[in-house]
Amino acid sequence: NRKRPIDPQMLSAEILAGNTIALSRAITLIESTTSAHQKTAQEILAACLPHTKKAFRVGITGVPGVGKSTFIEALGMLAIEQGKKVAVLAVDPSSTISQGSILGDKTRMERLTADANAFIRPSPAGDALGGVARKTREAISLCEAAGFDLIFIETVGVGQSEIAVHQMTDFFLLLKLAGAGDELQGIKRGIIEMADAIVINKADGINTIAAKHAKTEFSRALHLYRPKASAWQPKIMLCSALKETGIDEIWQTLLEFEAHTKANGFFESNRQDQNKYWLQATVVNALKDRFYKDETVKQQLPKLLDAINTGKVSAFQAAQELLKNFK
Ligand code: GDP
Repeated sequence: NRKRPIDPQMLSAEILAGNTIALSRAITLIESTTSAHQKTAQEILAACLPHTKKAFRVGITGVPGVGKSTFIEALGMLAIEQGKKVAVLAVDPSSTISQGSILGDKTRMERLTADANAFIRPSPAGDALGGVARKTREAISLCEAAGFDLIFIETVGVGQSEIAVHQMTDFFLLLKLAGAGDELQGIKRGIIEMADAIVINKADGINTIAAKHAKTEFSRALHLYRPKASAWQPKIMLCSALKETGIDEIWQTLLEFEAHTKANGFFESNRQDQNKYWLQATVVNALKDRFYKDETVKQQLPKLLDAINTGKVSAFQAAQELLKNFK
């Protein structure tokens, strides 16, 4: 490899100047598993963090085919018209399982891709959601350092990825299709509780009537949920990402939410809670990793499992035994 070595100071200066090629290179370092790259990536992050302007971070989730990329393109282009710089990142746990990504493979968001005020990055690969989430979180900071002030973080409705995205965003938007009646079926209660907006997409052509019914049903159901800590009443909206109808109302809702939560202090306190969440999650993961790699633990574990299964000790006692001998 005859590439010149990377100078973290120089690369961070270019990121701070808004150079997206430098930004891309730095994100590649964050995603690398090589320890030298990791070290450089952390130096770049450290140099960028003090100058990072906080962006408005919007999480978007929905099943494959619901229209996420079409929607992000429509909303993103509108935001750019309003003078914003827009970054799109993804947390796609499917890429860790199937090696192929549900989100990243097709040609997506062509207009955004071609726009100088947009930056699009597909989901990193990783061996666990925790790793993918950490990389995306660090990529958010770099995008903010590069001057992006609106960041979309997209995920598919798979496993725990929605929780991870919810924990790194200010606003959480659930994209839905109108179904055949019972709209709430099949949606996890937790996802509805996280949503600041539920947007029913493809409200066009023959879908229009079903979409309106779905809106009514969601509105009715949402009243049964307890009020959110943000004191924000979640909105149900209709749109057609394809025909670009309803997008303006959604944009206004984002602005309204930002103003509302900045005024009542939730925006900042939520960010602080998120920092604490990631700190704790990182510590727990590191400890867990060390614990299960410990020689004594590795030796004792199968014996203790046996002892539990034959009724000699309880799972609780066995755990105490393992912890007692772990240094
Ligand atoms: P994703 O997998 O969630 O990112 O979905 P895509 O954005 O790739 O959209 C999946 C398909 O639905 C594509 O063929 C889109 O053209 C189509 N689609 C997206 N939004 C709309 C919409 O508002 N109305 C209609 N009729 N089709 C849409």
